[in-house]
Amino acid sequence: MDPNQEKRTDVNELGEFGLIDHLTKKFPLLNESSLKGIGDDAAIIENGDMLTVVSTDMLIEGIHFDMMYTPLKHLGYKAVVVNVSDIYAMNATPKQITVSLAFSNRFSVEALEELYAGIELACERYGVDLVGGDTTSSPKGLSMSITAIGQVAKGKQVYRNTANVGDLFCVTGDLGAAYLGLQILEREKQVYLAAPGVKPDLGEQSYLVGRQLKPEARKDMIVAFDQAGLLPTSMIDISDGLASELFHICSQSGVGAFVEESGVPIHPDTEVQAIDFKIDPITCALSGGEDYELLFTIRPEDVDKVKYMPGIYIMGEVVPKKDGIKLHTKGGNIHPITAQGWKHF
Ligand code: ADP
Ligand code: MG
Repeated sequence: MDPNQEKRTDVNELGEFGLIDHLTKKFPLLNESSLKGIGDDAAIIENGDMLTVVSTDMLIEGIHFDMMYTPLKHLGYKAVVVNVSDIYAMNATPKQITVSLAFSNRFSVEALEELYAGIELACERYGVDLVGGDTTSSPKGLSMSITAIGQVAKGKQVYRNTANVGDLFCVTGDLGAAYLGLQILEREKQVYLAAPGVKPDLGEQSYLVGRQLKPEARKDMIVAFDQAGLLPTSMIDISDGLASELFHICSQSGVGAFVEESGVPIHPDTEVQAIDFKIDPITCALSGGEDYELLFTIRPEDVDKVKYMPGIYIMGEVVPKKDGIKLHTKGGNIHPITAQGWKHF
């Protein structure tokens, strides 16, 4: 090796969150209006009586989506959903998006129209305005970056780092289905590549495939919280799997978690398909990503407010940090939950 060569550290040595931390630690917040910087689902900026909430996500062909089984209309819809999901995770309401695109000459006007038809549908569904973006060419594939801007009244924003010992962990919807949907699509892709004449049959798995290709963000939950007068003590959206999100809330709040496996909502189709793939369904919920449900904590005295809200499951308790993050299995065992986030570079 050349002794004069500069030190080269592989980004995998730091991992995703280690890398973000490493690159951004020398950026103190200089403006008083920057209420929340890096580290949550979205940043929060003071804006008169209201707070402005901002979040950005990038989707890259070949990494986040595969054009073999992702219709462009679905892709456009999903790209908006993943962004507004981060705004809802702050208990805020998304209002605007910007869309930046880079694409190769493989993409026609008609193809890009399809993409925008999906973006349009999502804008309607979530009540957001497309207010700008950027368009450029790329040597290969399609990349898109969306920024979502939202609003929340001062004092109503909910962070990741404010869970308290004794609070209850709640989760919306059901978990693990989007991951299995992806596994099914990948399997059908291999079948198709081996025998291009064979049409994939996804009919039986439409719930799981739908959760992967056409997820929804939990706008309805933010509305329901407001109507019930409920302010969660902490919240995050579940984009990387329950384990990873539990880890974020716990490490940032300086607490631990005790989760009941029986309290983790799993759809019957997820149960059946997981077993078919020889995976434990709870593993799909803990480590599968892209569910875009909400994980949040509430004060124990607020339990009556969520008890009768459809689609909310109380699945555990916030415990002292020294007790770690643990799963109480249906079989009666207690296991530590490990969260890697993902490695992806
Ligand atoms: P989420 O999964 O909710 O979209 P991420 O895990 O992508 O959130 O990001 C975690 C935090 O790190 C966010 O506050 C995000 O804005 C910030 N972040 C991610 N990448 C960068 C970057 N390259 N520079 C600065 N901040 C970043
Ligand atoms: Mg998020």
